[in-house]
Amino acid sequence: MAAKLKCAVIGAGAIGSATAYALSRQGADVCLYEQFDFFHHRGSSHGPTRLFRTAYFEHTDYVPLLKRSATLWRDLEFQSGQTLYCQTGVMMAGRPDSPLMAGIDLAARQHSLDLPTFTASEARTRFPVFSFDDDMIIRVEKDAGFVCADRAIAAFLTLAKHHGAQLLERHPVLSWREENSRIVIKANDETHAYDRLIIAPGAYAFNLLKDIGAAVTPVRKSLFWTAPDDNRFHTDSGFLPFAIQQPDGRFYYGFPAIDEDGVKVGEHTGGMPVNTPADDPEELRVKDRKEVSEFLEQYAPALKSDLTNEQSCLYEMSPDGHFIIDTHPECPQVSFAAGLSGHGFKFAPVIGEALADLALQGVTQAEFDFLKLSRFRQ
Ligand SMILES: Cc1cc2nc3c(=O)[nH]c(=O)nc-3n(C[C@H](O)[C@H](O)[C@H](O)COP(=O)(O)OP(=O)(O)OC[C@H]3O[C@@H](n4cnc5c(N)ncnc54)[C@H](O)[C@@H]3O)c2cc1C
Repeated sequence: MAAKLKCAVIGAGAIGSATAYALSRQGADVCLYEQFDFFHHRGSSHGPTRLFRTAYFEHTDYVPLLKRSATLWRDLEFQSGQTLYCQTGVMMAGRPDSPLMAGIDLAARQHSLDLPTFTASEARTRFPVFSFDDDMIIRVEKDAGFVCADRAIAAFLTLAKHHGAQLLERHPVLSWREENSRIVIKANDETHAYDRLIIAPGAYAFNLLKDIGAAVTPVRKSLFWTAPDDNRFHTDSGFLPFAIQQPDGRFYYGFPAIDEDGVKVGEHTGGMPVNTPADDPEELRVKDRKEVSEFLEQYAPALKSDLTNEQSCLYEMSPDGHFIIDTHPECPQVSFAAGLSGHGFKFAPVIGEALADLALQGVTQAEFDFLKLSRFRQ
């Protein structure tokens, strides 16, 4: 029998956890390194929920990946015995020529996705919580919904461990290098050699991927909760996750209440680029709190109550807002996913599967060509 490949994975966010699971499930000998505690709040993956959409306004080439990801989320639910993907439908609104609505239209046409369209007056009856501008259109993607983020990562880690992965928290990887065709990593005071290395560093990419020729910028984001104790906005009452692009381009999203905290609301387009991921300026929170309140006042007045809770998080922006998924240009034993740019969680299982395939077979069936590093190196 062939010896098991020894694989190190760096980062226990959504992507590294999914990769550790995919590798260990395929029989690799896996060690996952996380610099902080598991489930810490200093990266991009913490929190209860993330939107899952398939009519992808960001780029239509993501659609096949999303279809595979949906299948893999269902498989993760089956393997873990938990509900992790709630297919509630998602309501999206904006002017027809806004990037959100024009992009959805393109993806729906290219991939034959069915998204009923409503005028503002039709939508006011159908979604009485919201107040739409007269020139907005409203579309509902029925197959969309949200992933239970914290629980999904717990499921990846539990199953990876079940398949024999070693999970190491508080183990920052300080450096890596190629030596005699193997990859030697330095973590804490120790060095270890592996056949393959997968790097999923989120906003901390500058440490381990500084030489790839594409910078990942940490952007600090805020999110808020409102309307606790109001049953109208609970998933059980049929309240849908939403995404609304204002005429000035600002794009807000929200989730139905899944617990006593209430409805989660944030702005996708805003945030503040920071020098290091640790920066968390209070002035950003003050500004965002005011702007989220103004958004609710105008577009969801029934939700306008005190913002009762808040959290901060990081986007990990690539230069063009699209993921960078590839093998390392100088070292084929190393592959990575970086610059998930604030929309990567929904893809975690398909990226994990692809990174595992790249590590173990050298190729992936998933169509990731448009996300390769080479687009920045021509
Ligand atoms: C407010 C907010 C809302 C979002 N909404 C959505 C959404 O609705 N839908 C969606 O699909 N996506 C959404 N995203 C984006 C999505 O959450 C991220 O793209 C995704 O979680 C990125 O995962 P990651 O594993 O790449 O990064 P991270 O979660 O940051 O994980 C990287 C991990 O690597 C560790 N690490 C880094 N360097 C080292 C090292 N040297 N040694 C050891 N460990 C290291 C870090 O500590 C970290 O735990 C949102 C993000 C935010 C912040």
